[in-house]
Amino acid sequence: MIPYGRQDIDQKDIEAVISALKSDWLTQGPSIPKFEKALADYCGVKHAVAVNSATSALHIACLALGVELGDTVWTSPNSFVASANCAIYCGANVDFVDISLDTGNMCIEALEEKLLHAKLTNTLPKVVIPVHFAGQSCDIRAIGKLAKDYGFYIIEDASHAVGGKFENTPVGRCEYSDICVFSFHPVKIITTMEGGMALTSNETLAEKMMQLRSHGITNDPSKMQSASDGPWYYEQIDLGFNYRMNDVEAALGLSQLSRLDSFVETRNKLVAIYNEKLSTNPTIVPLSLASNIYSSYHLYVVRVDGIDQAQHRYIIESLRAKGIFAHVHYIPIHLQPFYQAKLPQDYALPNAERYYREAITLPLHPKLTPSEISYITDNLITLVDEIASKA
Ligand SMILES: *Cc1c(COP(=O)(O)O)cnc(C)c1O
Repeated sequence: MIPYGRQDIDQKDIEAVISALKSDWLTQGPSIPKFEKALADYCGVKHAVAVNSATSALHIACLALGVELGDTVWTSPNSFVASANCAIYCGANVDFVDISLDTGNMCIEALEEKLLHAKLTNTLPKVVIPVHFAGQSCDIRAIGKLAKDYGFYIIEDASHAVGGKFENTPVGRCEYSDICVFSFHPVKIITTMEGGMALTSNETLAEKMMQLRSHGITNDPSKMQSASDGPWYYEQIDLGFNYRMNDVEAALGLSQLSRLDSFVETRNKLVAIYNEKLSTNPTIVPLSLASNIYSSYHLYVVRVDGIDQAQHRYIIESLRAKGIFAHVHYIPIHLQPFYQAKLPQDYALPNAERYYREAITLPLHPKLTPSEISYITDNLITLVDEIASKA
């Protein structure tokens, strides 16, 4: 089976892990601050807080921004459930902004319209979490402008987008946002097995997130309420969690980071081959890419225009029968039973729902070969032609 995505681990990665395992620190060792500094420098941002998953990063990002009971957080329905769950963890309500059919990203016009309405009804969100779907940054400048106009915070869920760029600056720079979150799950661009990172240019937010990732404890005398009892002393000044990344994971991340640019270049080359092969069939529409964006291409997604649910399922099942692990990203979050129970009965997001009926994720990872791409595209085109001939 050709997987839809997978990690790329080389001998240097393995050696980095072994050397971390042989060191004195398995948990809180020197690789963690090194990995944080290296990724912060790569992105051109001041602070990076490594944690054990992007899900944890999203949670402490929301808490650091003060999300609490009664607040509202908006995100994209076309994402993994973690983009929304982080707000629920804080006791907040979640609402969704519909997507653009051509990019799979939060639609800026829909966001603006929803903000206008929310302002009138006094229901503005505290935080908006745009998701850089498939590795393509949202129009983060436009969202940043709306954040100023309407007064909300921005957490970028850039789980797909490490190594990508917006207007020639790296995703993670936080020029228009408060916090940006990466995931290092094995299917993502670089991996630490499990792991995530929260980046910010705001020192207060960084300190808050560092405290929250480790029980709400501080060793910093300037933050303590009492005088130190001695060299063992620490104070718990907030309610935090054990969300720490360990040193072995950070050592792997550091080693993977050295190949980030080449991973993303390879992904872009493979996407160009896909786009070329599929350009013969106008019914198969790859996600469009804005000219000011360099995508990290976590995923390669096409829409088969106008197909229904049964045809969609038929194509994906047939591809899998041929050894091609086609997938769907994502089931719209608002259709999940957990969210259905919270939302009004007539709640609908037409673009996200149509997109879900038509979208197919085709395999993409750095080890995918051009001949595998030919095999995949030949099979897809045959299936789409077969459906068209029956119509
Ligand atoms: C993978 C992913 C997450 C969660 O990442 P973990 O590191 O597995 O917690 C969150 N949001 C999006 C968009 C993702 O793709």
